[in-house]
Amino acid sequence: MTTQPNNLDQWFDHYADRASGLAASEVRALFAVASRPEVVSLAGGMPYVSALPQDLITDSINRVMRDRGPAALQYGSGQGLPALREQILEVMALEGIQASVDDVVVTTGSQHALELVTKLFINPGDVVLAEGPSYVTALVVFRSFQAEIAHVEMDEFGLVPDSLRAHIAAVRAAGKTIKLLYTVPTFSNPAGVTLSWQRRIDVLEIARENGILVLEDNPYGLLYFDGPPPHAMRSVEEEGVIYLGTFSKTLAPGFRVGWVLAPHAVREKLILANEAAVLSPSSFTQSVISEYMSVADWKGQIGTFRDVYRERRDAMLTALDDYLPDLDWTVPNGGFYVWVTLPNNLDSKSMLPRAVKELVAYTPGTAFYADGNGRSNMRLSFCYPTPEFIREGVRRLSTVVNGEREL
Ligand code: PMP
Repeated sequence: MTTQPNNLDQWFDHYADRASGLAASEVRALFAVASRPEVVSLAGGMPYVSALPQDLITDSINRVMRDRGPAALQYGSGQGLPALREQILEVMALEGIQASVDDVVVTTGSQHALELVTKLFINPGDVVLAEGPSYVTALVVFRSFQAEIAHVEMDEFGLVPDSLRAHIAAVRAAGKTIKLLYTVPTFSNPAGVTLSWQRRIDVLEIARENGILVLEDNPYGLLYFDGPPPHAMRSVEEEGVIYLGTFSKTLAPGFRVGWVLAPHAVREKLILANEAAVLSPSSFTQSVISEYMSVADWKGQIGTFRDVYRERRDAMLTALDDYLPDLDWTVPNGGFYVWVTLPNNLDSKSMLPRAVKELVAYTPGTAFYADGNGRSNMRLSFCYPTPEFIREGVRRLSTVVNGEREL
């Protein structure tokens, strides 16, 4: 990707090559418009934090200040607060993961973990395999370290193992080095699908045979609606998986606390990289989360989130059935997203200005591919608007889609 010279930027010639991967997406300006209150935004991925017990969080903040204020306001360990790392083991145990507290590294959200892992492993020109479609801001990170991204096909059961094998063979035949397989196996962002248990085993086997490290990104696994998903890939494979977790979706993204569970040797490098980047993750927000988890029914609160999001998922699926019955979409069993496929001749990116005019926003499918695919797809989020607004948003969307069909 090249960045166009910008006359307003006198330092244009000074940027490092890697900065060219940091191009603002074409739809960014439209999203600024889409944040107006009269627009129903099905575009973002903002958790519904109003469902949290605000009083309990306030109490936790007060207790942290009263009982250990000086420590919470100080720099901390580059690996993260030991008490919180113990509690993170309890969170991961819910998804079948057994680990040592020594192998957990707390980061500034899992986004930062993505940055650190990529920094540790990717040279310019190395290949990262990722689902097609894949989490947009992971693609931005990979590009900013000048990785090449190869998308592996997925279907309703997640990554397709045969496509993975075919891509590995093709990339190798082209003489390139594959370093990572990046996957969001559970309630994927953006496709909303989940990798089946058998495929988890198959994908791990293929990765092991080919010496490829699996980067398992799992922010949504505990937000299931119809029974728990298969256990995390990290629950079956320790040495070949770097696992990313976060409090952003099960608690609140404003804390900016996530973590990495890494193979023992990699963990040492990660701590050094974390220190180089931020010295230590926020002592204050780690302390608040740790305090909250020790006094609040945090598992019950995750259950409340499940109920909120299940109702919204149902509202979205019902509205799609009612207003756009001839389109195709995925049926997520958890998470935040539905992936919609438009009739072939419709282009979700060129349709977006018209949608914003009709006061509804979505994310065009092309955002989730590094190679221009996804024109006939869009991601609809059901996490933030109320069920009524979701229904109204889908109704407005149907006006836009039907209007485009007539053109
Ligand atoms: N990975 C995925 C798949 C996500 O959807 C998100 C948030 N949208 C992140 C990582 C980053 O989350 P955070 O940095 O808030 O932990």
